[in-house]
Amino acid sequence: MAIAIYPGSFDPVTNGHIDIIVRAGLVFDKVIVTVMDNPRKTPAFTLEERLEMLVESTKGMKNVEVDYYHGLLIDYVKQKKAKIIVKGLRAISDFEFEFQMALINRKLNEEVETMFMMTNNKYSYLSSSIIKEIASYGGDVRKLVPSPVLKKLTAKYIQKE
Ligand code: ADP
Repeated sequence: MAIAIYPGSFDPVTNGHIDIIVRAGLVFDKVIVTVMDNPRKTPAFTLEERLEMLVESTKGMKNVEVDYYHGLLIDYVKQKKAKIIVKGLRAISDFEFEFQMALINRKLNEEVETMFMMTNNKYSYLSSSIIKEIASYGGDVRKLVPSPVLKKLTAKYIQKE
């Protein structure tokens, strides 16, 4: 069974992430979307909130699971008996970092392959940070995030005003 791990901060999950999840689900037997700690980022949403938004947003996707992990991605991949890491690429600017991560992960475990999926051009400009920025100024993000995320963004940024 080909299990793919799709790791990220998902702070919060956007339609760009969902697009990758759906497409990966068509290619692999199982996709595990894993919320990871990123020491370079301070999340706006708690781990519980990010997990809840992901679970609700992927409801009905039969071969998709949501999980979390603190630690090295490559250890997690092994623990799940998976061999594939899926990453999305939006722009050249994503490439350098992802290239480094893919090579270091190969160094740590050469049996694990990182596979890249090109963004859907509808979502190439979309990132979790841009969503939070727009929402914090009261902008309309309805077409950019799944509805469970919209609810949480409204509660966090709009009802507070
Ligand atoms: P971000 O970079 O927006 O903070 P994450 O760390 O949660 O997001 O990203 C997880 C993965 O999803 C990464 O591989 C990232 O490149 C990919 N990704 C994020 N946004 C998009 C998008 N709009 N289209 C395709 N891939 C994306």
